[in-house]
Amino acid sequence: MTVAAPRIRMLIDGQFIESASSQWQNVVNPATQDVLAQVPFATPGEVDAAVASAKEAFKTWRKTPIGTRARIFLKYQQLIRENMSELAHILSAEQGKTVPDAEGDVFRGLEVVEHAAAIGNLQLGELANNVANGVDTYTLLQPLGVCAGITPFNFPAMIPLWMFPMAIATGNTFILKPSEQDPMVTMRLVELALEAGIPKGVLNVVHGGEDVVNAICDHPDIKAVSFVGSTRVGTHVYNRASLAGKRVQCMMGAKNHAVVLPDANKEQSLNAMVGAAFGAAGQRCMAASTLVLVGEAREWVPDLVAKAKTLKVSGGSVAGTDVGPVISCAARERVEGLIASGVEQGAKLVLDGRNPQVDGFEKGNFVGPTIFAGVKPGMRVYDEEIFGPVLVILEADTLEDAIALINANPNGNGTALFTQSGAAARKFQEDIDVGQVGINVPIPVPVPLFSFTGSRASKLGDLGPYGKQVVMFYTQTKTITSRWFDDETLGHGVNTTISL
Ligand code: NAD
Repeated sequence: MTVAAPRIRMLIDGQFIESASSQWQNVVNPATQDVLAQVPFATPGEVDAAVASAKEAFKTWRKTPIGTRARIFLKYQQLIRENMSELAHILSAEQGKTVPDAEGDVFRGLEVVEHAAAIGNLQLGELANNVANGVDTYTLLQPLGVCAGITPFNFPAMIPLWMFPMAIATGNTFILKPSEQDPMVTMRLVELALEAGIPKGVLNVVHGGEDVVNAICDHPDIKAVSFVGSTRVGTHVYNRASLAGKRVQCMMGAKNHAVVLPDANKEQSLNAMVGAAFGAAGQRCMAASTLVLVGEAREWVPDLVAKAKTLKVSGGSVAGTDVGPVISCAARERVEGLIASGVEQGAKLVLDGRNPQVDGFEKGNFVGPTIFAGVKPGMRVYDEEIFGPVLVILEADTLEDAIALINANPNGNGTALFTQSGAAARKFQEDIDVGQVGINVPIPVPVPLFSFTGSRASKLGDLGPYGKQVVMFYTQTKTITSRWFDDETLGHGVNTTISL
């Protein structure tokens, strides 16, 4: 007898409910093809019900004391810590990344929850005393109302946690639309959020794809949308939701270049590059997927290949695995197609990871570490985001040439420089037109004391996720100018000039 896969529920008005939808999709373990669960594509009525609940809850949540809001996230961070191992195992099974890497995924989200617990220090207005006689001006950072978040498959814990904790901590209510490819760990995090004390209607979850996303973009009662995902979908969401009058922030695709100068510490730099190119099977928006070797560092390709060959490709649940599967059969075919295009277009395939032998996981979507040398702009492996364990190597004569190459690429998510020269590092950070820069740090994702600051084609909207910027994103600044009349500040008749 086969047991039906569990059906993933939605969260509407404080209740975990089964969707009435007739459209369901399997959530599949990418290492085994086992069906773990089924996820619904919510009906329009279910999206409306979630938004109506969030709109109603906003009436009281917006006035809930800031300390009460903060304490929920204090409790929430504790619950996430206590359940870390379970969360990481759920995540690894549905997404494919290794269990230690899955813990990192949860941990980077947990840091944002900790930050949300400090909301009392963050959501502060300003006051200028005596801007005119007896007049003060001050600001309130007020929540917007119902906000929504649409998340990608590659960080199913961290990215939902980029969004709803800070939105809710600042006094908004929230509709989350997780990736339909791996919604299970997200739902476990949502259960823990309710356990921490998030009240009914303040957090809602609807599942689905294009139609649900479009319904969110169009809904007149949603005030702001946060999106993380591909450039194609993010551009659509930005345009559609902006047209509907919403505040929108979209973090999108990337092609992150790492530059290695010949004075870099060779061992450290190559280790960092291999980890940052192939970790999470290259499915990180900040993966160092493009290497620019400058001058004599061009000779380091064989050593890099030798290191990449030592990585163990296997299921994410197997101890010692370095590279797990890619998310789906379709993703594997896309990555393999791009590798074939690189060969056709004349790049030198110095390490071919296609069709690796993975004992015990013969049905998995595996692509082993793959490296192309001699890559040039105009080749698809350079022009497109591969989002798999494929590193492309370009060459430059000088640091200036490397900077010009990177600045000519449309993407601006992240970049890194490996060097022991302070002067070179300073030149790079000054002249590079990329929003997040690592100096001997391959994946420079800022902690939540700062904000995620991808730029150019990797981002639409002014303000980034988490940190100081997201407090501005999820609030409207209201400026109050006030005068209180007493015996000393009584007015002196009508004044029609522009002074206070
Ligand atoms: P995706 O764009 O396919 O999906 C993202 C979300 O959009 C999902 O919730 C999905 O259901 C929804 N969606 C998919 N197709 C849609 C459509 N046609 N219309 C409306 N909604 C649609 O992205 P993905 O494959 O899940 O994630 C990988 C991408 O995300 C990569 O490009 C990666 O670089 C990017 N990413 C960027 C960042 C960042 O911070 N810049 C972080 C993580 C991932």
